[in-house]
Amino acid sequence: MRQFTIGDVTIDAICERSGPWRTPETIFLGYDREASESKLRELGPVLYDAAQNRLVMAYHSFVLRWPGRTVLIDTCTGEDKGYPPPMDFPKQPWLDGLAALDLAFEDIDVVFSTHLHIDHCGWNTRLREGRWVPAFPRARYLFVRGEYEYWKQATARGENPPGKVWTMNCEPVMAAGQCELVEADYTLDGVMSLKLTPGHSPFHCCVDISSRGEHASVVGDLMHHALQLVEPDTSTVFCADPKAAARSRRAFLAEAAEKNTLLFPSHFPGPVAGRVQAEGKGFRWQFA
Ligand SMILES: [Zn+2]
Repeated sequence: MRQFTIGDVTIDAICERSGPWRTPETIFLGYDREASESKLRELGPVLYDAAQNRLVMAYHSFVLRWPGRTVLIDTCTGEDKGYPPPMDFPKQPWLDGLAALDLAFEDIDVVFSTHLHIDHCGWNTRLREGRWVPAFPRARYLFVRGEYEYWKQATARGENPPGKVWTMNCEPVMAAGQCELVEADYTLDGVMSLKLTPGHSPFHCCVDISSRGEHASVVGDLMHHALQLVEPDTSTVFCADPKAAARSRRAFLAEAAEKNTLLFPSHFPGPVAGRVQAEGKGFRWQFA
């Protein structure tokens, strides 16, 4: 992804993996191939591999920089976590992506995850002498209180997933004293503000960026694929509350279309960022 500028803020992506991924049948709830395959084909080969019937999907972190701040949003799956395939991504592309932005782990001031799923908090920690320690030694890690507590309790109940995701990626940050639990209306420097968009996870938050009259939003898993713009009511098998996820998506996208907000979804490949326009019963995606 090329660098984008919103007022005083630059936005860059770090890509952990990209390419044909799962079939639509295994991701979208209630997927009807007869009704929806033509819509996928219309989105084009950047987003849908028609020959293999695979969604093309990527995994991204985003780096926001403005004077005095370097903020990392969503930390992909990370290294040494021992996840089984297909989540055992190689670590080098992400490390190369960080270095390509002229950044070291020490340079990150603030880390935030839109939600605490396996692919959004992985690089929070690294394994050192058999222990998970914060990967970003100077950073303050912001967790939305409700999201943190939800996964803490799910882990205590032994649910799998999350399995060890919270134990490896979140708890060690708290133990190291680098964690700050914030509410879902948190703002930073008047530039970055959280926006609660529940459904995919209980306290999923988008990150609105506003500077000098320009607007953008890092939208996490508000949608996993552009088909969910054409069909905003389609949620995924990974959504905790599919109906709430659809409500959040519709409301958020309606506002984004009105304001012409530049959107950065976690899992869109290629140019990654784009804008939406209202069209028919949904929206039309246009890569920026
Ligand atoms: Zn995700």
